[in-house]
Order: sequence, then C-alpha cells, then structure tokens
Amino acid sequence: MSKQTKTDVVLIGAGIMSATLGSLLKELVPDWEITVFERRGSAGEESSNEWNNAGTGHSSLCELNYTTEKPDGSIDVSKANKVNEEFQVSKQFWSYLVNSNLIRSPRDFIVPVPHMSFVQGEKDVTFLKKRFEALSVNPLFEGMEFSDVPAKLAEWIPLMMKDRKVDQPIAATRIETGTDVNFGALTRILFNQLKKQNVDINFNHNVDDIKRANDGSWELKVRNMENGSKDRINAKFVFIGGGGGSLHLLQKTGIPEGKGIGGFPVSGLFMVCKKPEVVAQHRAKVYGQAPVGAPPMSVPHLDTRVIDNKESLFFGPFAGFTPKFLKYGSNMDLITSVKPHNLTNMLAAGAKNMSLTTYLVKQLMLSKEQRMEALREFIPNAKSEDWELLVAGQRVQIIKETNAGKGTLQFGTEVINAADGSVAALLGASPGASTAVSVMLEVINNCFPQHMKEWEPKLKEMIPSYGAKLLQQPELIKQINATTNEALGLVSKKSSTSASALA
Ligand SMILES: Cc1cc2nc3c(=O)[nH]c(=O)nc-3n(C[C@H](O)[C@H](O)[C@H](O)COP(=O)(O)OP(=O)(O)OC[C@H]3O[C@@H](n4cnc5c(N)ncnc54)[C@H](O)[C@@H]3O)c2cc1C
Repeated sequence: MSKQTKTDVVLIGAGIMSATLGSLLKELVPDWEITVFERRGSAGEESSNEWNNAGTGHSSLCELNYTTEKPDGSIDVSKANKVNEEFQVSKQFWSYLVNSNLIRSPRDFIVPVPHMSFVQGEKDVTFLKKRFEALSVNPLFEGMEFSDVPAKLAEWIPLMMKDRKVDQPIAATRIETGTDVNFGALTRILFNQLKKQNVDINFNHNVDDIKRANDGSWELKVRNMENGSKDRINAKFVFIGGGGGSLHLLQKTGIPEGKGIGGFPVSGLFMVCKKPEVVAQHRAKVYGQAPVGAPPMSVPHLDTRVIDNKESLFFGPFAGFTPKFLKYGSNMDLITSVKPHNLTNMLAAGAKNMSLTTYLVKQLMLSKEQRMEALREFIPNAKSEDWELLVAGQRVQIIKETNAGKGTLQFGTEVINAADGSVAALLGASPGASTAVSVMLEVINNCFPQHMKEWEPKLKEMIPSYGAKLLQQPELIKQINATTNEALGLVSKKSSTSASALA
C-alpha cells in the first residue's frame, strides 16, 4: 500500500464489479484518486474468474428462466428484455474501451458462440415454441430460429443428438449472436489498464473494518496479508465489491440500509471436458430446463468455453451447500453473518427454504457417476473418463423482508447504498457479470446524483443508448448491434462491411 492515507475512492475487491466501476469513474473523473484493496494475490480470482463461472454473456437468448408463462398462457418477456438491454449496455462500454485503445484485443475476453435452448417432452416443447414466437418478433432477439425436427437439431448440436433415442417431442431455439465471455480475463485487462492510469492497486490486502469518520467520510482498517501489518485509510466514497464478502463488509458500515439483510451461500460445480475430439463436436451454449424444485442458478447447460484461445466444454453448474461466502472464504462465514437485526429473516428463510437446503445438500452428495447421468441427458454417449469435476465460484443469495414476507430468498443482484451516497455495496449474484456496466451505472447514479448532469455527455459518448429504452427504438438497436459487433469482433468479415456502413 502506498504511503497515502486519504483517497477519493476505495474499491474493495478486484472482481469484475470493481473493475467496471473503476473504469467508468476513470473516464468520468480522471483526476479522482482511486485505491483498490484485494485480499487475494491478483485480480479476478473469485466468482469473476473464468473457471469459476459459466462465461455466458447473459442476454436471455437461451436462458429459459428469464421468460415465464403467465396464467393466461402467454409468455412474460419483461425480464428477458431487461437482461438483454443490460448486456447491450455492457457491450457498448466494452466497445468504447476498445475504440479508445484502453482494451487492445477484445478476442481475449469475448467471442461469438451461438446460444440455444433445448427441451424435451410435449409441455416444454409447447413452452419453447411460445417463447420463440414471443421473442423472435422483438428486434433485441432478431435472428432466433426454432426447430423441432431431429435432423435439423443434429446439424445444430451433433454431439447432443448422436445416439439419442428420440421417443418424445424435442425442440431447440438457436441464435448466432450469443457470446462466451471470459470475465476473468476482462477483469485483469481492466485492472492492468487502471494501474497504468495511476490507480493504487493493493493485492494481498484484506479490508477488516469500515467505520464512519466524524466528517461523514469512511475510515478503513486494512491488513497486509503477507506481513500482517495494519493500516488505516480514509475515503470519501467506498464501493464494497467483495462478491460473497460484501455482506460482512456492509454490516460493518452500520448503515441502516444494510439492516435486516442476510445471505445464503450456494456453491457450484462444473464438469469440464478438454478432450479435443469431443470439444470439436459442439459449438454452442445450450440451456435446458431446471429440474423441479431446483433454484434458478442450477439450470443445466452445456457450454462451449473459450479460455486462453483454447476451447473446452463445461456442463453444470451443479449447486451445492457450504457455509463459505467466498470460494477462498471461511467455514465461519454463514454463522458470523447472522446478527440480531437479520436473525428473524434468517430463521424465516431457514424455515421457508428447507426443501432448497435439502436439494442443495443432496446435490453436494452426488457421485461423479450420478453427475454423468445428468450430463447424459445432454450428451447421451458421454464417457466419464473425458470429464473432470471443477469447483466453481460461490454465490451468496440475498435474504430479506419483501412483499412476499420475512426471510425471502432473492436470486438477483441488488445495490445497497447509504442515503448520502458515500458507500455502496453490491449483493447477490445473478445475472451477474454480464450486467456489470448497468449495475455500476446504478451505483454511480445513486451515489453521485449531483454530478449526473455534468457527466451525461461523457456517459452518452461511452454508452450511446444511455438514458434510452432500446426496445422502443429498433433503429438504435440495429445501429448499436452493428457498431458493438464490429468493435468487439463479433461479426464475420462480410457482415462487418455493412456494420461500418451503418456506424
Ligand atoms: C457457478 C457460477 C456461474 C456463473 N455464471 C455466470 C455467467 O455465465 N454469466 C454471468 O454474467 N455471470 C455468471 N456468474 C456470476 C458472476 O460470476 C458474478 O456475478 C460476478 O463475477 C461477481 O463479480 P464481483 O466483482 O461482484 O465478485 P468477485 O469476482 O467474487 O470479486 C470479489 C472480490 O472481492 C474480494 N474480497 C472479498 N472480501 C474482501 C475484503 N474484506 N477485503 C479485500 N478483498 C475482498 C474477493 O477476494 C474477490 O476477489 C456466475 C457465478 C457462479 C458462482
């Protein structure tokens, strides 16, 4: 840590969220001093790491849980539209960074991979068809195809159709504009860039405590994990981007907005195949339906991943339960997060979610062969020896009182900030990294309202759709698609010519 004991901004945690907020602030107010503390030895080692998440650029092109069937049988697409629009915002900001030479090679973190939904059985096929009809007329989902013809599916997903006994209706949707995102690489790229822009980045430094100073700023106690030395630093604004570690830090601030909130950890596990002959037979992210009783984060999917220019297949995630809030966390995390103010919510959540806890514990106990059986729903002839188990990142779901009552388990992300905007924390995990730019814009909007007018032109330069509802502007969608696909290298040579014409 540098000698300085006062700074404008402290970012706690070097994951994708802090990386994004730091990058946005550096563009908006280059002269603000930013200091980062990360307990691990480098950036992006927890949930943002490429081996700890599925790398899906979530835009509702394939995730069935973002569209629900209403009681009248129609499909509610509001969440799908929201998630898609948020990903468009991320793509615009990343494109801005590429066009400003702040990111050199977008291929290092984003590549096109078709997104597909895959279902079996009459009920799910009917749902998928309705979902397709509701989405494909929407310009945000242009290019989506549907098929229930096994021969067509065999063209799209040969590995999944080989040796499959088709004894019930089967269908899939496919859209070419999906992406695989290496959020770990992106996190490291952004922090390397921030370092060049004089951001003070301190690895192996744990933030132990945060207290309000008399002048309303924040005093942080920081421990050097290599030599045990302790320092204090004062900041006007603190962002708690500690991933699963955020809840404990939020509790230490004592802000009333953080009262009553609890956390429920859900661990994850993938099966990974690196065998080139198998990997070469599949190129898509294929999402299925979650098993009955399973939480939304354990929707099974078979994903092409591109990590360090090498392709592999991920299947999962299998959910599980450990009391840790971070992958490299402590078994005491859950118990120490229980405070007098969140005890009733925690107890209510425990009582309400017994079946979820049982489900998670059962998932945790599955043998490799039992996991292979789940995989064989996707790849009928998958061989155990081609697949290895990989422990993924931890997610901490929010527990709080909502309209649905005390102890409600939330599956989304939520920004919690002090009324004066001097501290903000990000809790929750889904849709996650894909929506980092929108979520960090929310932090900026909530915490710096006095600057928003002045910052608006720069925000519009970085994110041309800033302040607009994309869905209502099909021409803007086309233009943004063209320019972002061009900047991020997500188009073939042929279509990139038309992209430049539009730009
Ligand atoms: C199994 C799984 C699959 C997922 N799949 C996807 C996906 O396909 N697409 C998608 O968009 N998202 C996905 N996500 C979600 C996504 O990974 C997360 O939303 C995102 O990475 C969170 O980023 P973050 O910066 O908030 O947290 P993290 O990346 O966890 O970073 C937090 C950092 O804070 C540090 N820290 C914590 N406490 C302290 C402290 N006291 N002092 C100093 N440092 C501290 C930690 O060491 C860590 O490095 C998935 C998550 C999981 C677990």
